[in-house]
Amino acid sequence: MKQPRYKRVLLKLSGEALMGDQSFGIAPDMLAYVAEEIKKPHDNGVQLAIVVGGGNIFRGVKASSFGMERTSADHMGMLATVINSLALQDALEKKGVQTRVQTAISMHEVAEPYILRRALRHLEKGRVVIFAAGTGNPYFTTDTAAVLRAEEVHAEVLLKATKVDGLYDADPATHPDATFIPNTSYMKVLEKQLRVMDMTAISLAMDNGLPLVVFDLKKAGNIYRVICGDQVGTQISNSCP
Ligand code: UDP
Repeated sequence: MKQPRYKRVLLKLSGEALMGDQSFGIAPDMLAYVAEEIKKPHDNGVQLAIVVGGGNIFRGVKASSFGMERTSADHMGMLATVINSLALQDALEKKGVQTRVQTAISMHEVAEPYILRRALRHLEKGRVVIFAAGTGNPYFTTDTAAVLRAEEVHAEVLLKATKVDGLYDADPATHPDATFIPNTSYMKVLEKQLRVMDMTAISLAMDNGLPLVVFDLKKAGNIYRVICGDQVGTQISNSCP
């Protein structure tokens, strides 16, 4: 068994990752698959913090475009991430992985509040910590929340699990000759507006030198491969061309 390269990582899962082939909500088989993928590095001693999105249930920006007050819409979006976090917690605990959910919006009966020192203690004890409710503030995304929490817990890398296998110089769906980009810099992502994460998230990662890896969640074993340092997906860092 290959040894992990990283001791502490932050995994960002979009809400859509839990949707599977459905157009809304949580697909039980996808949830079980994701939990199994997370269990592997956990069982090999890797400390895992997770940020889950909410796009499979509710997106603030979309609702505000229909006329809803943006702050209310974003509060609903953040609550959607709590629903996903609880679902992931349940799936992980069914597989014997100890977890804690911490929310950036207090709801004591449901989950712990976000307290950094407590989160660190959980990680040291080998519990998977799921950060829910994004940053707790409207006008942000869970990508930005993921970078923020990764910095706070001193994760060595942020793993952005998506439905694509990484970055291309053009959209491979419409440009069959698009070239895959294995390594790139934050600046290139910003300049070329490669929509892998929102600009705020990329800028925050760049300012703090947090390496990012964008990879395909649906290929079994990918999370562990990335954690072992295999060349999977696209790496974004300061040292890349
Ligand atoms: N959200 C927010 N503040 C945050 C994080 C998320 O207001 O710090 C809201 C926002 O409305 C967003 C929704 O939560 O649309 C779901 O998050 P996101 O769109 O990032 O989820 P993903 O695309 O990863 O599924």
